[in-house]
Amino acid sequence: MKTISILGSTGSIGKQALEICRLHPDRYRVTALTARASRETLFEQVREFRPEMAGLTEGFEASEIPADLSFCRFVGGREALRAAAAEVPADMVLVSIVGIAGLAGVMDALGAGRQVLLANKEALVTGGHLVTDLARKAGKPLLPVDSEHSAIFQCLQAAGPNPAERILLTASGGPFRTWDPERIRRATPAEALRHPNWSMGAKITVDSASMFNKGLEIMEARWLFDLPEDRIQVLVHPESIVHSGIVFRDGAVLAQLGQPDMRVPIGYAMSYPERLETGVAAPDFFALGRLTFEEPDEKKFPALRLARAALRAGGAACTVFNGANEAAVAAFLREEIPFGEIALRVERALDRLAGLRADSLEEIWEADRLARRI
Ligand code: NAD
Ligand code: MG
Repeated sequence: MKTISILGSTGSIGKQALEICRLHPDRYRVTALTARASRETLFEQVREFRPEMAGLTEGFEASEIPADLSFCRFVGGREALRAAAAEVPADMVLVSIVGIAGLAGVMDALGAGRQVLLANKEALVTGGHLVTDLARKAGKPLLPVDSEHSAIFQCLQAAGPNPAERILLTASGGPFRTWDPERIRRATPAEALRHPNWSMGAKITVDSASMFNKGLEIMEARWLFDLPEDRIQVLVHPESIVHSGIVFRDGAVLAQLGQPDMRVPIGYAMSYPERLETGVAAPDFFALGRLTFEEPDEKKFPALRLARAALRAGGAACTVFNGANEAAVAAFLREEIPFGEIALRVERALDRLAGLRADSLEEIWEADRLARRI
């Protein structure tokens, strides 16, 4: 029996992790759950999984807690994440909140010696050196949940002592892959939220349409697998069946395949090094017929070029890339700026804030704040 604390349990990843817990009640006991503001969903989850602690980071009144949930300690505000990450006993902490808010949760969990299952890529994008340092010192390597990084991790398990020469990071290409640039520039939130293969939270779905998600994932891979960006190649693969792979020096490639269903990588992180049933079947290759690959179009989707430039620049550039994008995506979803403006704003923030340092958490928060303002 393993105990698990879930930061961001009401989101897309959080709910699917709870599905795995529901499937294997003999293996997992939930000790803490947190959400930002989705009270009713959180209360429902507490009722079902009976954690000892639950948190709402946007605060709440004790009078709002339903009477039948008095067995659970509720924590409000920023303290909620700390309590769930580091105070409540747990073998594993799944960090599945969205945005840079995940960084503190990851640092707290590692500081308390917890095994971190990492869905929140922003923690590595913004604080990659701090997070990987702490994980190394704690002797608790991060277990990736992001499907591509889980795929690479699985390939590396199979590779044994042989190093990867290169990573092949696959991308669906999103809903605008075949659109002309002018139509992409004017795309609406409803169009950006219609992902062809994956069902995910709003922020990452918009990032998939702009390919900023793949830019963030190059950064995530750089820290998880300690390879420079020029050894991380992006392949557009619209079927989302090959989840990523590695290339060896002898020309051989190992890749991990499966249906586009996050329960597989979530389940693997939860059960590693074993494999458990996830409720997902293997792909039906006869029904699929063919798998296709394309080179990414960096003219239509400037995110990859900007991400690589930010990685090469170092310092706080990746934090600026992330913060400016988070703010621009929020503005786009509020219909304040057109889709095409997202990359332009990120590029402007990178230009104006060149040279900022990110040696400490304080410097990272500050770079994030300045980037959002631009
Ligand atoms: P989501 O929007 O569906 O859920 C986010 C969760 O975090 C919710 O429980 C929400 O209440 C909570 N939350 C949001 N903002 C918060 C804040 N500022 N402080 C504390 N809690 C907050 O997001 P998601 O799609 O589940 O994605 C979660 C993370 O996993 C992201 O970093 C995303 O990039 C990554 N990821 C998601 C998928 C996917 O399939 N959804 C795949 C790969 C990686
Ligand atoms: Mg991914």
